[in-house]
Amino acid sequence: MNLPLITHAQEHNEKIAIVTADGAFTYRDLLHTSSQIATNLLQDAEDLQEQRVAFLIPPGFEYVATQWGIWHAGGIAVPLCISHPRPELEYVIANSEASIIIAHPNFEAILRPIATEQNLRFILTSETLPVSVGRLPFVDITRRALILYTSGTTGKPKGVVTTHNNIQAQVSSLITAWEWTSSDSILHILPLHHIHGIVNVLTCALWAGAECHILSKFDAETTWNRICDGDLTLFMAVPTIYVKLIAAWETASSERQKSMTAGCAKMRLMVSGSAALPVQVLEKWQTISSHWMLERYGMTEIGMALSNPLHGQRDPGYVGQPLPFVEVRLVDESGELVPPGTPGEIQVKGPTVFLEYWQNPQATAKAFRDGWFCTGDLAVVENGNYRIFGRMSVDIIKTGGYKVSALEIEEVLLKHPDIQECAVVGVADLEWGERVCAALVLQPQCQLTLEFFRNWAKEQLAVYKIPTRILTVEELPRNAMGKVTKPTVVELFRSSSS
Ligand code: AMP
Repeated sequence: MNLPLITHAQEHNEKIAIVTADGAFTYRDLLHTSSQIATNLLQDAEDLQEQRVAFLIPPGFEYVATQWGIWHAGGIAVPLCISHPRPELEYVIANSEASIIIAHPNFEAILRPIATEQNLRFILTSETLPVSVGRLPFVDITRRALILYTSGTTGKPKGVVTTHNNIQAQVSSLITAWEWTSSDSILHILPLHHIHGIVNVLTCALWAGAECHILSKFDAETTWNRICDGDLTLFMAVPTIYVKLIAAWETASSERQKSMTAGCAKMRLMVSGSAALPVQVLEKWQTISSHWMLERYGMTEIGMALSNPLHGQRDPGYVGQPLPFVEVRLVDESGELVPPGTPGEIQVKGPTVFLEYWQNPQATAKAFRDGWFCTGDLAVVENGNYRIFGRMSVDIIKTGGYKVSALEIEEVLLKHPDIQECAVVGVADLEWGERVCAALVLQPQCQLTLEFFRNWAKEQLAVYKIPTRILTVEELPRNAMGKVTKPTVVELFRSSSS
């Protein structure tokens, strides 16, 4: 027996699995191409034995076939982010200790030099694949499958390792709760280096034998065009995307608006998650689409934990109850369970919870208490429903659904010769959830425009991490211990925009 994801796919051989601008691909195509990729990866080896394979491929059939090929060959998939500049790619490749890099030709210029420097095998997706498929290894589901990099409260992102078993539990939980079937058809518009796009959309669809229609990148008009086609049953996105879709709806002609609304009405479920869904957005979306969105809560380390019901009441501002196979509890600072109505930290247990932070046993140990994963998010239970209060650390910012670390950004900004000190904060914003903002103390006689600053930062940081507002200050607000008081920095931004 091989990986259940792959044996499931064999049941749907001739059915369409993936549709992209390049055409439609069946489950058979996916199984065959991924086996060819696995054969190529293995060369003469019997099993990659959890070697890490980093890959940078635009969303589409090649991406999925490569991910499955790595799994077929017994490797760990390390998806890289398309918008990352060289230093971030280098970090992930080095930290995961990848031995192979697979790249789409668009990324050859950036990745080949890294492969050469780190002495890694480099494969282009344009290379011819072996015609015949070799013997592929048996891969036990307890083995490691995926490393996704996520920002934490300390410096650089950490590699979250999930096993095939974890992914299976995450997917089964959502398939049960949201009643996925092989008749479903979902539009995929999310990044493929993040759990939302990889697990909730792509892997759930393929596990269920459904159709996954992949756009190479999100664009509001193209997304609406696909919704207007009226053949989709499911849609999942982060709140920022819903805000952009609402903006596009508002500027459309009344005839197009009708067609947009009709396309939404054909769907059976629209889901929001990865960041708090503002009630205004929920309500506006309802008037446009007739869908009262289903909001869920999850995290790279735990998969999805809480969800509003598929059938039944969804209260605005609440994320519902624990999903199947997920145990959730709320505890106070001393680790005691809090009574209903009192806020506490969300802790999660069960087969959906990740295995470890890659090569970081201290961080792994610190993240668990008595076998429960400590999310660092605060919530309260009211009338049996969970309501998310926010994060316990001001240094984690959620922007456009991406989780970013203020400390990581500060570390990079301090490399700028004109910046003496800085404090990065998230400032509440209806479109982005939070905007990344930086208060800067400049070296004497220096000046920095936002444009110049952002152009410099693009070379160092993923675009979603780059502050969109900067404020030059004489000195940073600090408490008696000399620690920067971030809430005061947030206030500085709030008052400077009013
Ligand atoms: P990530 O690991 O990038 O998916 O980020 C996980 C974090 O996103 C969580 O720890 C929460 O802080 C936040 N998050 C996810 N879903 C929600 C939600 N529905 N409401 C509020 N915050 C959320």
